[in-house]
Amino acid sequence: MPIYTAPTEDQLFVLDEVLRIGASEVPGYGDLDRDTLDAILGEAAKLAENVLAPLNPVGDEQGCTLENGVVRTPKGFKAAFDQVREGGWTALDCDPEYGGQGLPYVVATAVGEMFSSANMAFNMYQGLTHGAYNAIHAHGSDDQKAMYLPKMVSCEWGGTMNLTEPHCGTDLGLIRTKAVPAEDGSYKITGQKIWISAGEHDMVDNIIHLVLAKLPDAPDGVKGISLFIVPKFMVNEDGSLGDRNALSCGGLEKKMGIHGNATCVMNYDGATGFLVGEPHKGMRAMFTMMNEARLGVGLQGYAQGAVAYQNALAFAKDRVQGRAVTGAENPEGAADPIIVHPDVRRNLMDQKAFVEGARAFTLWGASLIDQAHRAQDTKAEGLISLLTPVIKGFLTDKGFETTVLAQQTLGGSGFTREWGLEQFVRDARITMIYEGTNGVQALDLVGRKLAQDGGKHVMGFFEMVKGFASENKGKDEAFDRDFLEPLKAASKDLQAAGMFFMQNGMKNPNEALAGSYDFMHLFGHVCLGLMWARMGLTAQEKLAAGEGDAAFYRTKLATGRYYMARQLPMTATHLARIQSGAETVMALEAEAF
Ligand SMILES: Cc1cc2nc3c(=O)[nH]c(=O)nc-3n(C[C@H](O)[C@H](O)[C@H](O)COP(=O)(O)OP(=O)(O)OC[C@H]3O[C@@H](n4cnc5c(N)ncnc54)[C@H](O)[C@@H]3O)c2cc1C
Repeated sequence: MPIYTAPTEDQLFVLDEVLRIGASEVPGYGDLDRDTLDAILGEAAKLAENVLAPLNPVGDEQGCTLENGVVRTPKGFKAAFDQVREGGWTALDCDPEYGGQGLPYVVATAVGEMFSSANMAFNMYQGLTHGAYNAIHAHGSDDQKAMYLPKMVSCEWGGTMNLTEPHCGTDLGLIRTKAVPAEDGSYKITGQKIWISAGEHDMVDNIIHLVLAKLPDAPDGVKGISLFIVPKFMVNEDGSLGDRNALSCGGLEKKMGIHGNATCVMNYDGATGFLVGEPHKGMRAMFTMMNEARLGVGLQGYAQGAVAYQNALAFAKDRVQGRAVTGAENPEGAADPIIVHPDVRRNLMDQKAFVEGARAFTLWGASLIDQAHRAQDTKAEGLISLLTPVIKGFLTDKGFETTVLAQQTLGGSGFTREWGLEQFVRDARITMIYEGTNGVQALDLVGRKLAQDGGKHVMGFFEMVKGFASENKGKDEAFDRDFLEPLKAASKDLQAAGMFFMQNGMKNPNEALAGSYDFMHLFGHVCLGLMWARMGLTAQEKLAAGEGDAAFYRTKLATGRYYMARQLPMTATHLARIQSGAETVMALEAEAF
């Protein structure tokens, strides 16, 4: 059975010491002193470790079943869901007006990492509900909010997001689901949606589906899509449940991973729906919360890497094979633990350096979302909008890669079911696909975000990196050499790539889009480099001041140095690939493949 220990200490380091959120002026942050954070994260850790993690292999083995239209979740899921709900975990960052606790999003993000690492498939039931809550909260009428939100905050009712149809996933302009106005102001929704996460299940009393559909007079393409609330059970004025709506789960997808989450075909057969916001503005409504939803998927990616790494590390300390090349380290035993071997170390360091960097990047991203929403900071809004595709694309690619590295640490045991590593690999894989494939994230980054507002946000990012380097230069020679110089070099590579797109992409867009994926990774490395430089600086300051746990800070510095020396140089490779242009990528006619 795989192990899981919540990374409370590391999260506290990032939140309290690196981001210093308790000292921030963002409304709500002032209450988040270290003790408060420690108490919240400590309770979440218990739930993640003792309740959710043991259910992860159970969910994987049993999966969900569909019988006579009823979807049953794996044994133990419902009781655990009740526990999560009763503990108020689903309401953490929700609006107090609807029963939420009103805590900043950054806190919910830290808790989300623990729950996702412990049991990603399980946590998606609440995650999807939260996404639907966000969309109604931002775009619903007051009556809709009053009717649906309190029960969604408490997760007595679930929520879903219905975009995908059999013939369209990325290109939602092709949607065929119809919404026909009825006399009473509601709409009749008819069509089929596929791959709907948590579309039907037995853990809630009602499910509030958010469905994209087209009105009869809709313009073609994405400009003609509207958003509807379509409840499984109609809700009476007094909040009680009425008749069953004309919608059903037509099938459960058999899939590679996240078996504990029901991925449903949803059939809408003239179901009653209610328009959210304005007609034809559904995409805008659905995507207002895109930064948050995509950050949530980036989090899922590295969270799988995080739990996989923990298991790889435990194995590497326990498994004995061969002798250290520099002399036996376990002379009493038949062999040395494999952690002595440099190649096993390389593997573990790649995992550790990525996971901790990704954690800092994600929490920083979540704090930018708080800054944007709670303090109406347009600069933070612009920056997080730019970074969102990087968080989603880079962290899920690397998160998956980390699970594979961890699997490799275990040798043959990594391939067997018993150790659980293969489940982390399979579960992590979907994060690169849903919520917009990673190729589409790269397209969004290079095709839209770079030039957004005249390129102001990317320029702001470069200024921030430059500012950090010049502010901290000269304080310590080793820090300059090990952290600041590599960061500056990587940032230069990123600027050179941006310049290449500017000079060549206008003439031929293929020149930019053939390099978009590399650009997303180049950008991701620079962000993690920045995070490691910030963490390294904090660790160094703490050591100099003789504060806290010196061993923790020394480990941080060593891990940071590893990232800067062994991972960050990848920016040069990505730049070279980008600068080679589109010619070799597009050289073959389609028939020649
Ligand atoms: C387990 C699971 C759960 C899901 N949950 C939900 C859910 O809850 N709700 C929901 O609505 N959907 C859900 N989805 C659907 C998911 O969001 C889509 O699968 C995803 O957006 C990609 O769409 P697609 O599969 O149709 O791929 P396609 O759009 O057909 O794309 C195929 C390939 O072409 C590439 N591509 C497409 N267009 C372009 C372009 N313009 N430029 C470059 N490359 C391009 C893509 O990157 C991809 O590699 C889920 C899917 C799965 C498997």
